[in-house]
Amino acid sequence: MDVSTWSALRTATTDPGTRRAPTRVTARRIAEFARPHHRRLALFVLLSIVGAVLAVATPLLAGRVVDTIVGHGPVGVVGGLAVLIAAIAIAEAALGLVTRKLSATIGEGLILQLRTAVFDHVQRMPVAFFTRTRTGALVSRLNNDVLGAQRAFSDTLSGVVGNVVTLALTLVVMLQISWQITLLALVLLPVFVLPARRMGRRLARLQREGADHNAAMTTQMTERFSAPGATLVKLFGRPADESAEFAARARRVRDIGVRTAMVQWVFVTALTLVSALALALVYGLGGTLALVGSLEAGAVVSLGMLLTRLYAPLTALAGARVEVMSALVSFERVIEVLDLQPLIVDAPDAREVPDGPVSVEFDHVRFGYPAASKVSLASLEDVATLDTRGGVEVLHDVSFRAEPGQLIAVVGSSGAGKSTMGSLLPRLYDVDSGAVRLAGVDVRELSSDSVRATVGVVTQDGHLFHDTIRANLLLAAPDATDTQVWEALRRARLEGLVAALPDGLDTVVGERGYRLSGGERQRLTIARLLLARPRVVVLDEATAHLDSTSEAQVQEALGEALAGRTAIVIAHRLSTVRAADRILVVEEGRIVESGTHDELLAAGGRYADLHRTQFTEGPEPDPEPEPAAA
Ligand code: ADP
Repeated sequence: MDVSTWSALRTATTDPGTRRAPTRVTARRIAEFARPHHRRLALFVLLSIVGAVLAVATPLLAGRVVDTIVGHGPVGVVGGLAVLIAAIAIAEAALGLVTRKLSATIGEGLILQLRTAVFDHVQRMPVAFFTRTRTGALVSRLNNDVLGAQRAFSDTLSGVVGNVVTLALTLVVMLQISWQITLLALVLLPVFVLPARRMGRRLARLQREGADHNAAMTTQMTERFSAPGATLVKLFGRPADESAEFAARARRVRDIGVRTAMVQWVFVTALTLVSALALALVYGLGGTLALVGSLEAGAVVSLGMLLTRLYAPLTALAGARVEVMSALVSFERVIEVLDLQPLIVDAPDAREVPDGPVSVEFDHVRFGYPAASKVSLASLEDVATLDTRGGVEVLHDVSFRAEPGQLIAVVGSSGAGKSTMGSLLPRLYDVDSGAVRLAGVDVRELSSDSVRATVGVVTQDGHLFHDTIRANLLLAAPDATDTQVWEALRRARLEGLVAALPDGLDTVVGERGYRLSGGERQRLTIARLLLARPRVVVLDEATAHLDSTSEAQVQEALGEALAGRTAIVIAHRLSTVRAADRILVVEEGRIVESGTHDELLAAGGRYADLHRTQFTEGPEPDPEPEPAAA
């Protein structure tokens, strides 16, 4: 493995030392998740006790058989005992099925709870979270770790609860038969318990590392196997290096798998050996005592059988400890995501946007993008520690007001903060100081549903889900009828195109569906906006990448979208800028000029410069690029 591959591996793996061992807090959280299942859990414990009693009964009965034989007792007694032993075996089998069913129901129920909780929670995270988090890492939490967490729970149930009861009962009975032999047999006990702890920690560490590598591989696959990612690798990437990095991770996962299996096997083998040695001790010592007459022959047999039943749950317990420890890691990884507080939540007394036309106001707004440590998790970003630096301030004291129905154009150099202004209005981020107001109300006092219904946004990339045209449009207005959908398409100048598609509204679009051109995609997002009928519209350079024909059509569609609405348009085009009621010139996070086209031209300042270079002499827009890797 070359150095760069190795360093890629290193950064992917968070230093195990910085992570906590599974704690009591985790245990309490698991208990919370278990609460809805408390009835089933109680039944499970009860059945486990019954099972333990049955397990102890058979060795005792077997001892009675031996005593009857040694004492030349009646044949009928032996027959009766045999029938009883058979009946107990059948009862044990039936009981085993019922407890399995119970633990499976509880375990699967837990998966359901965790999955829905994580999905629901992640969905509520602010945009800042998704801009930082790697999708593969998140998906891995939802899949692998949720399963691991469920295993922690089922293993504890079936491995620990039942066995503890069996262990206790067996010990009591053995002590009663012969406390001397029992104590001697238990001398070997520490041999079990002590290494089990060390082994558990070691396995948990391996497990964590394995989970990190698995997540990193998922991330690599989801990023590289998407059409844009694959194209990028083909054009600029080094496929050999990609493969090497992937293979290095996969090899490490293999090594971890082998190590884990071996650690577990060495452990189980050692336990089996110790239990066999203890059995020899019981037969040797018990046999001697029986020969000198201080112990019944049946008691020796009972003790021997009980001993194997003692070491069986001990082995299981020690193993369960190991497994529970490693599965707790998964639980923690899930809880870690659930505990990440969303930065933006509705106020408890959130209001609706007042009815009627809506004004937009930025009041001395200061804003910097939140620090990574506030919005994300190191383990989801593939970095060891998160950047805790506060965001650099991007907007400095921005104030302006758009009266209802006004069109405000925002122009300025790239990186000036225009898009940032656009994302504060629908409250994708919260301001650091000052306020953003809709109809005079601070957006932080409004309900997110109401803000969503009031502010419509058309961004440059016009993202569409891999779904039908209808479904993509209905996202904005779930109750819209087909007539309304067609009406929106007509006004977005898309009616002809969609009607000509073989499946019409049911044509699947999006990343892997029918490939719409940039202009068509843009008009589809405008149709979505028309359906949603927001009272405020934010357009972010909506026409930047279009050729002139597409642009003319999009402009017509935009005219429809803007009519009668309050609009903030981040503009690259002269036509939009000219039509604006007011133009804001933004540079380095400040509004440096504001006025109408004519006023600003007359002033001969920054706008006049921009107008000269960008709007008149600027190069013709690039023609529509061919969609890559269709
Ligand atoms: P414009 O739209 O005028 O081109 P932006 O609003 O996109 O400018 O960017 C303004 C500044 O904010 C830039 O310095 C950019 O690097 C920064 N920025 C934009 N998006 C983010 C983000 N998600 N996280 C951190 N910084 C960002």
